[in-house]
Amino acid sequence: MPTTQTGTNNQATLRRIVETITSGRRFVISSHARPDGDSIGSQMAMSFALQTLGKEVVVVNKDLAPGPLRAFPGVPTIQISNRVDEEFDAAVVMECGDLGRTGVAGLDRFFIINIDHHPDNTGYGQINWFDPTAAACGEMVYTLIRELGVPLTLEIATHIYLAILTDTGSFHYSAVTSRTFDICSDLLRAGVKPSLTARAVYDNDNLAKMKLFGSVLSGVKLDETGRIAIVYIDHEMARAAGGTYEDTEGIINLPLSVKDIQAVVFFKQNEGDQYRVSMRSKGEIDVNAVAKEFGGGGHKNAAGCTADGSIDRLQKIFVEKIRQAIESQDRSVAGSEEGVNGGSHSVTALS
Ligand code: 5GP
Ligand code: MN
Repeated sequence: MPTTQTGTNNQATLRRIVETITSGRRFVISSHARPDGDSIGSQMAMSFALQTLGKEVVVVNKDLAPGPLRAFPGVPTIQISNRVDEEFDAAVVMECGDLGRTGVAGLDRFFIINIDHHPDNTGYGQINWFDPTAAACGEMVYTLIRELGVPLTLEIATHIYLAILTDTGSFHYSAVTSRTFDICSDLLRAGVKPSLTARAVYDNDNLAKMKLFGSVLSGVKLDETGRIAIVYIDHEMARAAGGTYEDTEGIINLPLSVKDIQAVVFFKQNEGDQYRVSMRSKGEIDVNAVAKEFGGGGHKNAAGCTADGSIDRLQKIFVEKIRQAIESQDRSVAGSEEGVNGGSHSVTALS
């Protein structure tokens, strides 16, 4: 079994979680609104593990799983609701820096087990287990399931792999560690087929999505340094391309395939002058710090928030903040011996 770096006192926290699960009978599992692969994968792995232990489990999310994930085992049983009315012995909340991220009312009535890898978790649970060094919440679920003594069935292993695959941007982000691969190695021994999982997640789209990508990407702008890509979509563009907002899933990562582009900011119109803002970055560039300034959050390389204002003004503000994040990373790299070689990343020294 791979070794885990669970940090100080985490062994005691894990033991408390195991005791709570062992002594309880009915559990509700929730995660953040607009769930992603890590939330769905972590929830379903946990749900199957609890069922193996003979527990009753209800999974409640505010929003549906992304389209391709609805075919994963158990996902169609997730209840979609903005409240829980039934009684449970405890709630397992995963992937949420604060409880409000669930968008599900009524969870605060329960004994909450808070499991998360976001760096700014507010500690809203009766038990709080967070590990910002985990590349995905799924890594933590793996550790917990091992601690519970539940065998890694193919269903459980597949969901943990789904969580890790998606939350690392297919093993792109700097949060990936040797532990990530140790865990994945165990998941493969349990029967996970990476190619099948990747195809199920990434090669399962419709033509409208490809056309929408084409129309959105043809409008990508760069800031004056050429290092920040600005991506934009509104309802009218989605309609004209015959797609929906759901079809923009994954588009934000594509500009990073351009060597010189260091960060991407994606504006998605909610309504009027309100926008969902998603950001991605390479290496040590911290877009989470930018998202936090606007009441959002996430991780160093992937973060988001909601912002109000005219799109021109928002673009200026976000580009400026991201540029500052890039420049502060430039300065810290210049001060160290590792990092950049003549402006291009050295694979052996890459942070
Ligand atoms: P995405 O850009 O894919 O929506 O989100 C990227 C990361 O940022 C995820 O870890 C997600 O949970 C986090 N994130 C996105 N939007 C928000 C937000 O409004 N608030 C917080 N706290 N985190 C967010
Ligand atoms: Mn995550």
